[in-house]
Amino acid sequence: MMNSVYRWPDGKRCAAAFSVDFDGESPFLWRTRNQPTDVVGELEQRAFGPREGIYRILDMLSRLDIRASFFIPGIIAERYPQAVEAIDKEGHEIGLHGYLHENVNGLSIEEIEESIVKGKQAIEQVIGPRTMGYRSPAWEMTKPTFDLLHRHLIPYDSSLMGHDHPYWIDGMPEIPVQWLLDDAIFYRFTGGMASIPPTNPNIVTDMWLQEFEGIKKYGGLFLLTAHCWITGRGSRLIALEKLLTKLKNDPEVWWATCGEIAEYHRVHHADHFHETLGG
Ligand SMILES: [Zn+2]
Repeated sequence: MMNSVYRWPDGKRCAAAFSVDFDGESPFLWRTRNQPTDVVGELEQRAFGPREGIYRILDMLSRLDIRASFFIPGIIAERYPQAVEAIDKEGHEIGLHGYLHENVNGLSIEEIEESIVKGKQAIEQVIGPRTMGYRSPAWEMTKPTFDLLHRHLIPYDSSLMGHDHPYWIDGMPEIPVQWLLDDAIFYRFTGGMASIPPTNPNIVTDMWLQEFEGIKKYGGLFLLTAHCWITGRGSRLIALEKLLTKLKNDPEVWWATCGEIAEYHRVHHADHFHETLGG
């Protein structure tokens, strides 16, 4: 059995990273783009993220001395430039997340390219020219989207789940996410009978701790994804900070941003862990 253990820097046993998909209102605006509506309930619920949640998360990360990765749709950078500035000022990584949180599924290649280019321009309007990694809205990808990432010299993708450590796909470093380590599946509740009631934060962070222990055992990457309109609520942040404190104090863990992990993979694993799209 080859290739089963991923090698990390300084003999660390596993890696950990914290990411925020800074969606705010953008998925709602995408969903209703062809059916304009004057209801504001979900918009206000989502605006809690850029108004309140983001600053609470930044405070928490500062207390923990963790640098995280923030993936930001272009329209959110236009609406909340002061939040983007605050993220940048704290030394966190900023990455691409479409313009209007477009799901690449069903888009033409021109539309996908426009979402990447416009998303990048909107962020650079605030923080200046920058090399930025990519996380696809809704974690969906296509071969043409990978072609566009290459064409626009985007250094890595962080949208897929084919391993639980970094790997190569279509010649691009993949910094893998996973649904179990996403806050939305446990907490996202926007009203209506179809939604499932939010999970107790202690249960959620307990599940995350169990997955961390599993990832540590197998030497992988523990990459959490939070949304500031969801995780920015008080009880969830309290539980999250307890978990992150524990992980931050574990000497066997390499803490890094997604960009740093991608760069490590590019340099130290150029010949390992290659996968083919669809294959
Ligand atoms: Zn998103």
